[in-house]
Amino acid sequence: MRITVLGCWAPYPRAGGACSGYLVQDGDSKVVLDMGNGSFASMCRLFDFRTVRAVILTHLHPDHFADIECMRHAIEGSLRDGSRRQGPVTLLLPGQPREVASRLAGLTKAFDSIFIEDLPLEKVPPGVDARVFSIGPVRYCLLPARHSLPSYAVGVEGSGYFVFSGDTAPTVNLELFARRADIFLCEASGLDKDSDYVKDSHMTARQAGELARRAGVKELIVTHFWPEYDLEELRVQAREGYGANVEIATEGDTYFVY
Ligand SMILES: [Zn+2]
Ligand SMILES: [Zn+2]
Repeated sequence: MRITVLGCWAPYPRAGGACSGYLVQDGDSKVVLDMGNGSFASMCRLFDFRTVRAVILTHLHPDHFADIECMRHAIEGSLRDGSRRQGPVTLLLPGQPREVASRLAGLTKAFDSIFIEDLPLEKVPPGVDARVFSIGPVRYCLLPARHSLPSYAVGVEGSGYFVFSGDTAPTVNLELFARRADIFLCEASGLDKDSDYVKDSHMTARQAGELARRAGVKELIVTHFWPEYDLEELRVQAREGYGANVEIATEGDTYFVY
């Protein structure tokens, strides 16, 4: 399994950068987690958008879904001109806020949409309830997060176990969910000085590190950065929380789960 960062900024990108977007490849299956502003262009620099099997939107804030509109036009165009795309892309998204969710689900030429809340609910190890969806041998588990909108963390079980926090305040369930993670990609929206600003819907870098340490994850990558931050300062605070080295998500970088 390999994870490539398409965008790491929030809620707006640095010049030339992109907001939340991550490509997960396992075997020949390409699935994109989130498509924030700029992530479609990032994706096109790395591979052919026609080969995407599914897109999972963790929640419907623009820094996580704005470029689904680009994907929509690209897919519709490729179906029209017959350029190596056989059918719509599977789109998993939350059913709320209803107005946005319904509009996206109505883009039926480009997407086969499934509301995450309609997926089967299963107990996933070590005993948390998550919505599950499979593509071939790879299972995608969606755990409710704690955010200002309905939001999900994503666990990908394939040739390894990868967890992406989405946007969330720390929760006990996320800590359990991340427990087996070979790689934990966790939002780190704040420095210590902004902990009041992010509380209840996000994590500081230090909190991301502390949660990852309690979960015992094998590798921690932090992401979802305010563009004005000094990322080395953020790395130091995450490392103090985690107690070991922390990777800073960087656009175009790929991480491997063995
Ligand atoms: Zn958000
Ligand atoms: Zn966000």
